Amino acid sequence: MKISIPGLPSAPYLPSTVGSVEQAVDKVAQLLHLNARPLVLTGAGISVDSGIKSYRGKDGTYLNRGYRPIYYHEYVDPSSTGEQKRRRYWARSFLGYPPLRIAQPNATHTSIAALQRAHAVHGLITQNVDRLHHAAWGGVPPNSVELHGSLSEVVCVARGPGKPHQDSEWWKAKRSETFGEMDRYTTAHIENDGPGCGFVSARDALQDELAALNPDWVKWAERLVNEPSLSLRRNPDGDVQLEGVDYGTFQYPSCPSCGGVLKPNVVFFGENVRQSVRSAAERRVHEADALLVVGSTLATHSAYRLVRDVVEAGKPVILLNQGPTRADSIVTERIGFDCAQVMGQVAKNVLNL
Ligand SMILES: [Zn+2]
Repeated sequence: MKISIPGLPSAPYLPSTVGSVEQAVDKVAQLLHLNARPLVLTGAGISVDSGIKSYRGKDGTYLNRGYRPIYYHEYVDPSSTGEQKRRRYWARSFLGYPPLRIAQPNATHTSIAALQRAHAVHGLITQNVDRLHHAAWGGVPPNSVELHGSLSEVVCVARGPGKPHQDSEWWKAKRSETFGEMDRYTTAHIENDGPGCGFVSARDALQDELAALNPDWVKWAERLVNEPSLSLRRNPDGDVQLEGVDYGTFQYPSCPSCGGVLKPNVVFFGENVRQSVRSAAERRVHEADALLVVGSTLATHSAYRLVRDVVEAGKPVILLNQGPTRADSIVTERIGFDCAQVMGQVAKNVLNL
């Protein structure tokens, strides 16, 4: 299963099945109350309130017209063309990552974390790569899967000529010159079922490396953090669009373990979701007795098929998303209200606050 540039089918869309926030809260609270192991699946829509741009607006159309993310095969291309693509990617990511890194969880993240703590939500699958669920929980949320990986990790995706030795300095880095303490982003164990040597590091540590290799670019990165009004287009994958800039001089490190190619631990377009991640997500779906989708158009097949599996198993599903979703035609409940408003109130009701 490869991630392709997502498109939403043209119709039919399900109009919101409730007419008020109160009804929405009742429906969601009931789903969580009546089922012992509800699973929550979240998407880009829930991080918009944290300042992370969504790919799509309320009507389901792309917000950044003309945005074309890099494809996996372009990124790992060993030729000089691939080299240029990687320089361009890391230059833009170098600038785009710091604002994303300092984003804070919002009411939707904290409500889901509170519901998990109260065992009203059993499992969590997120398509988001911002790790804001981790920040809200204060660690790795229980029974959670990052379906499309995380921007806060870097993995080796193509073995180099060296004998892998797992550079201990990278592993042990607990502080980043750029960000300070790195404990918010605990580097998780990654099952090495990919083409690389198995090296994994915190993205924060790579930011330090990139800053050291490209001192001229550091000023740009600082401006992006300090001047939020700077009119640059940002995308939810930590990419920043700059016009008229020469990316060809940007330096990036090779894998410190084997000399291979490092890549953020996020699923690129055209890339397969790793088998270990797919299996973990399927396990969560199998365990669940109900599903609540929050803030996702379900445009990517990897997320849509999980919803379809729950529907086909005859388990109840509620979509909480302001705009249309790809699963509208296969479910019977779509709540077209603001996620943070509904989830905040649901948490209060369920937890009797
Ligand atoms: Zn490597």
